[in-house]
Amino acid sequence: MTNENLLAIAEEHGCPVYVYDSEKIEQQYKRLTSAFSNIESLRIHYAVKALSNITVLKFLNSLGAALDTVSIQEVELGLHAGFQPEQIIYTPNGVSFEEIEEVSTKGVQINIDNLAILEEFGTKHPDIPICIRINPHVMAGGNTNISVGHIDSKFGISIHQIPHVLRIVKNTGMTINGIHMHTGSDILDVGVFLYASNILFDAALQFPDLEFIDFGSGFKVPYYDGDIETNVEEFGEQLTRRFNQFCEEYGRSLTLAFEPGKFLVSEAGYFLVKVNAIKQTTSTVFAQIDSGFNHFIRPMLYGSQHQILNISNPNGKERFYSVVGYICETDTFANNRRISEINPGDILAFRNAGAYCFNMSSNYNSRFRPAEVLWHIGSSHLIRKRESFDDLMRNQIAIDLV
Ligand SMILES: *Cc1c(COP(=O)(O)O)cnc(C)c1O
Repeated sequence: MTNENLLAIAEEHGCPVYVYDSEKIEQQYKRLTSAFSNIESLRIHYAVKALSNITVLKFLNSLGAALDTVSIQEVELGLHAGFQPEQIIYTPNGVSFEEIEEVSTKGVQINIDNLAILEEFGTKHPDIPICIRINPHVMAGGNTNISVGHIDSKFGISIHQIPHVLRIVKNTGMTINGIHMHTGSDILDVGVFLYASNILFDAALQFPDLEFIDFGSGFKVPYYDGDIETNVEEFGEQLTRRFNQFCEEYGRSLTLAFEPGKFLVSEAGYFLVKVNAIKQTTSTVFAQIDSGFNHFIRPMLYGSQHQILNISNPNGKERFYSVVGYICETDTFANNRRISEINPGDILAFRNAGAYCFNMSSNYNSRFRPAEVLWHIGSSHLIRKRESFDDLMRNQIAIDLV
């Protein structure tokens, strides 16, 4: 997408607005499938929580993706978008037993990460095959908020509890058809990932009825020029070799699954905002934009650094700015960042705004959530309307208390 395309969208739909480039999503999907082209049966489950717009889901369906879901609502969105139940895996954490049962009646693959739940489910529904989420206890994440493999993590069944899983399987007569791990985001060292995979393979040998092994996600994408990223091609080559070796040892060929969210949609997204004002203090030049952490919370929540471009003045002289929002709390998008000269009314584009951006937005400060636009084969399509006052009032009940 060019700056002119983005400016035209800002002009047509107003700011703030999220824009997604379908071509980039397709490129990433193909990059992943090519890296694993020597796997006989590969399944890419797109993690719905990253970006759940129904049109984006339909587009991923058209590419051949399956889905990874974490709530019954995400399952319903997926079914609504046209996915078949057997293309959907449901990996909840800490949800009610009733919700898991309800999802299972839809024919969706259930992934259980708690021994008590596994035992209860196996006792009541021994005929429904279940995937188990294993915690291999490998610290592979880039940040403690998203490293889910450590020993006291709330995610997964500890690898040390496999004997207990085997006992539950024997006592209930249930079938384990899949084994899963998702150790956290931002995997940079293929060696560390393979180390965790070997732990999973060892566990897998103890389950004779497997159909698939799901390696979760953790693909790191670059956030700015020169940022580090997962070497997907090298990873593909090494894991393929190891996986095919495992299948030989196991005695038959299994499906290899992944659950990328960020990798597929992060770089496809742009968040366009308008500059309301420039404010100079004794030490800082603030660019104050028509948004805040109500629309885009990743910099404040995770300290993530999103590149910010002044697309109204891309060739201007670079200056240092703090880009801040309009929320009545500190909401700094970027501190002391070099950006081409900003004037009130300019449109700024935040990069990597596809994953965990719109989907984490809220109505804080009673602001409307932004519109979403899909850029597809050279033209823009509105795929979610900007909210209006009616949306703020919906479900509220005004009572006269006098
Ligand atoms: C969030 C999540 C993913 C996707 O992670 P990304 O870092 O966006 O690729 C995959 N699997 C599970 C179980 C998740 O919770």
